[in-house]
Amino acid sequence: MGLTNYITASSLFGGFSDEGDKRCYYCGACCSGNFTAKKYVKPTFTNRDIVKFPSSQFVCKNCVDSMESKYPKIKLADGEERENQRVRQYCWVLTKDEKIAATKAHISFLRDTILNPPEPPFVICLADSGQKQILFRAPVAMDRDVFDVILEDDYISVDREELKQLLDLCKPLVAAIGKVAIISDFTMSTYIKVEEYFGSLDYLEKWEKHKNKPLAKLAAWLSVNQKEAQVEYQNIKRKKIQTKNSRVSRPKETDSRNGSQCDDVGSGQLCFDLA
Ligand SMILES: [Zn+2]
Repeated sequence: MGLTNYITASSLFGGFSDEGDKRCYYCGACCSGNFTAKKYVKPTFTNRDIVKFPSSQFVCKNCVDSMESKYPKIKLADGEERENQRVRQYCWVLTKDEKIAATKAHISFLRDTILNPPEPPFVICLADSGQKQILFRAPVAMDRDVFDVILEDDYISVDREELKQLLDLCKPLVAAIGKVAIISDFTMSTYIKVEEYFGSLDYLEKWEKHKNKPLAKLAAWLSVNQKEAQVEYQNIKRKKIQTKNSRVSRPKETDSRNGSQCDDVGSGQLCFDLA
């Protein structure tokens, strides 16, 4: 009797049918045994405790591909194609039909995708540092309303409605103190900055009730950047000046959907730049 195979993030990424009676060291899918762990598990691989079949001597073709440092061709969310790329440096949205890569320039795409995910099975893999192999262990989602994503080392359970509320809740604070600060420990300086920005601590108090939830971390990660948030939530001092002086024009609106506000879209592949 053959082994029961199942869909893994790697199999959605690679799309190969590498079937056989062996199990993949990384993702646990069936594989032929053509790729040995000896050759394809580098001594520098540090996540040995979280692989699916640590005793296996083999790796599937799809995991080999998902760890490529020179993957021949990838397609980004905005349609751009890049050649010979490190897979781990990108975020991925995977379905049976396509694999879409994303960087920090495509945060709005990732946000929209999580709020309105594709038909299952799908995988949403969010690389934060770009340094770790996380694709092989990304969860495969089978339900559009409640599903898990991986954000660097964390598995985060997504309730879309709750995520939407958290995104709304964190936006004013992102405007005041930035994306990193809203999920860091609050200090006296945090309270002072928020008070100075809004003239009250209302937004901060509301957010504080949720800020330690895993989903809040995801909301902060997916949030618009500080500059964009400030278009909607202005500093009270700036507001007053603008009201006094009608010649001061409103800050230029940015289109959060195309990521054009990012200065280093071309050069940067890493997703994590929460400023
Ligand atoms: Zn595998």
